[in-house]
Amino acid sequence: MGKVLIIGAGGVGTVVANKVAKNNDVFTEIMLASRTKSKCDVIAEDVKRRTGVTIQTAQVDADSVPELVALFNEFKPKLVINVALPYQDLTIMDACLECGVNYLDTANYEPIDEAKFEYSWQWAYQDRFKEAGLTAILGCGFDPGVTSIFTAHAAKHHFDEIHYLDIVDCNAGDHGKAFATNFNPEINIREVTQKGKYWENGEWVETEPHEIHKPLNYPNIGPKESYLIYHEELESLVKNFPTIKRARFWMTFGQEYLTHLRVIQNIGMARIDEVEYNGQKIVPIQFLKAVLPDPGELGENYTGETSIGCRIRGIKDGKERTYYIYNNCSHQAAFEETGAQGVSYTTGVPATIGARMFMLGLWSKPGVFNVEEFNPDPFMDELNKQGLPWHEQFDVDLEL
Ligand code: NDP
Repeated sequence: MGKVLIIGAGGVGTVVANKVAKNNDVFTEIMLASRTKSKCDVIAEDVKRRTGVTIQTAQVDADSVPELVALFNEFKPKLVINVALPYQDLTIMDACLECGVNYLDTANYEPIDEAKFEYSWQWAYQDRFKEAGLTAILGCGFDPGVTSIFTAHAAKHHFDEIHYLDIVDCNAGDHGKAFATNFNPEINIREVTQKGKYWENGEWVETEPHEIHKPLNYPNIGPKESYLIYHEELESLVKNFPTIKRARFWMTFGQEYLTHLRVIQNIGMARIDEVEYNGQKIVPIQFLKAVLPDPGELGENYTGETSIGCRIRGIKDGKERTYYIYNNCSHQAAFEETGAQGVSYTTGVPATIGARMFMLGLWSKPGVFNVEEFNPDPFMDELNKQGLPWHEQFDVDLEL
């Protein structure tokens, strides 16, 4: 039990605030802080109306360690849930070390001036968190997050050795806009326009962006063209499950989305370096974010479902077996419950459950850990109770 501080008041922050309020048997006091305090106030009012729970709010620039330290010393949280942007991961971890606060996030650190995400920067905090007796839980959204925990669950209960892992992420939702991203546009476009990469026989194989693709069938949805992209959980999963021979990540994109993306890139609007405009320096992708639909506002007319899961092939009791574990999430149901769409919901619910695991002492050990390094069982139980039920299929055609 203890006080929790949520940083970031976007789509994911909205869901975390709602869900943390509903888990107030373990969160004794809740604060939501972000760069723009008015956004926190709107969310806090909405949460109060929906759940009757009071959330305190504050302004903080999470790029500034001194500002974070001042806020931590005033509120004295036991845990910080970081759902701001990946650029803030290290400053928030620094402030946690300075003030003796535990840490949880949903996306790994990425420098603002280089579209490159990897765990090395955050894994480098291992000794300092360990010495301070503090826990840092990395990547506790859906992917990374639930997909990593699904893999840990499969390894613990259904396989002696996992050999092939394919993470499949389908968004079959329709928000009615010509082009919009489902989470922060800057982070999203940086992620999906980079080269593809997968793990095979002990090394990384690189592909051109969207070079490898094929239709895959998703439960309750049907066939959707799925593209091999690089995704951050692959890095920790091949390290933590060394029997894996091949690990890949697939995401569905519609033709319309890909056409827009290609145009955005071709005309230079995906650039992350500064350009001079009217005597002012602007970063094109940040300007683009300002004119694109706010992902947090997509929820109202969003129909359809997401379907994200793991397709696994490996060995159990000397025999080959296949296994598919997945969750489907309805955008509309997510919106009705929290005011946010399914992609924010599938990220914010696991972050809340991870925080609950920590507060209950079930996921608490000094050091920096990816979620698959904790016991998956209590987390899997909570997924079923907190809005993201999962399903498993054995010995099915994985299509991969
Ligand atoms: P949004 O852009 O909607 O929200 C980000 C929030 O962080 C905004 O409230 C923003 O403030 C705030 N923020 C940005 N910079 C700072 C700063 N310097 N100091 C304080 N607050 C700041 O993003 P989302 O809610 O869509 O995503 C949140 C996180 O979740 C991202 O890191 C994203 O990568 C991750 N994510 C993870 C997924 C997973 O499955 N693991 C899936 C989807 C997202 P302001 O309003 O002032 O701009």
